[in-house]
Amino acid sequence: MDLEIRGVSKTYRNGVRALDGVSLTIPPGMYGLLGPNGAGKSTLMRTIATLQDPDEGSIRLGDIDVVAQKERTRALLGYLPQEFGLYPRVTAEALLTHFAVLEGISERGARRDAVESLLRQTNLWDQRTSKLGTFSGGMRQRFGIAVALLGDPKLVIVDEPTAGLDPVERVRFLNLLSALGQRAVVLLSTHIVEDVSDLCTRMAVIHEGRIILEADPLAAVEGVKGRIWQRTVTPDELQRIEEDLPVISTRLFAGKTIAHVFATSDPGPEFEAVQPDLKDVYFSAMKGLLGGGSP
Ligand code: ADP
Repeated sequence: MDLEIRGVSKTYRNGVRALDGVSLTIPPGMYGLLGPNGAGKSTLMRTIATLQDPDEGSIRLGDIDVVAQKERTRALLGYLPQEFGLYPRVTAEALLTHFAVLEGISERGARRDAVESLLRQTNLWDQRTSKLGTFSGGMRQRFGIAVALLGDPKLVIVDEPTAGLDPVERVRFLNLLSALGQRAVVLLSTHIVEDVSDLCTRMAVIHEGRIILEADPLAAVEGVKGRIWQRTVTPDELQRIEEDLPVISTRLFAGKTIAHVFATSDPGPEFEAVQPDLKDVYFSAMKGLLGGGSP
């Protein structure tokens, strides 16, 4: 079952055009929606999750019209929003059981089995009698996934999930998502390139409400091979280089600034060719250097 987004636009009352003709085809598996803060990711996620309507365009999940058939969509949907409140004095097991009732799992044995299975999958079984207020950020996120997975959703939407997780929690959380990608459409929105490169077989980049790149991450990296060059620069040199060449990113390494530039041929003796990664693809796309629309 694919998720088909066609020509979706949204302008908020304050005049901000958060989505501008977004079209995407999202197959089962892990799909990454990558973009900077303010790009329109949450607006798109909330629209797909039936929490707000687009001004224009259509969204279909298999044969379901997501915008018109909200109840049918919700029955197949798991949504993990950017931030969610939890009842701090309730235990993980009690709250998940409560959500299972709301989800319509009314038979006691089936409910107990579903809750146990989800707490085990999310590695929270040993903490099932702990109060949610004592959970770390990573544990809260995993609990959010357990809630999102109740009712075996066919579409799972995860908005900026790894912000604030420590490296160990992040890996554990991404592994959990990846397992989920085996059986559902999983749409992961993030501004963290590594989340996408570690996990996703398909991705899109969104910028100012528009899709500026839709790609297979490996093929996209292959596509910029031979076009990314780097050199160490002083602030003055950086300013001069920027006048001639598209500098796609700068980063500090051992106290020095390393600039990456996009160039189809050798930009000069001080530069060396680098093995590109998905960050180079992302920053090149953001600068409008990959064709298919510029920001
Ligand atoms: P992202 O999730 O990529 O950070 P958002 O979808 O939250 O992006 O926001 C896209 C743009 O829409 C931003 O400019 C944001 O300020 C604006 N925006 C988001 N929600 C609202 C709202 N409810 N009312 C007005 N403007 C909004």
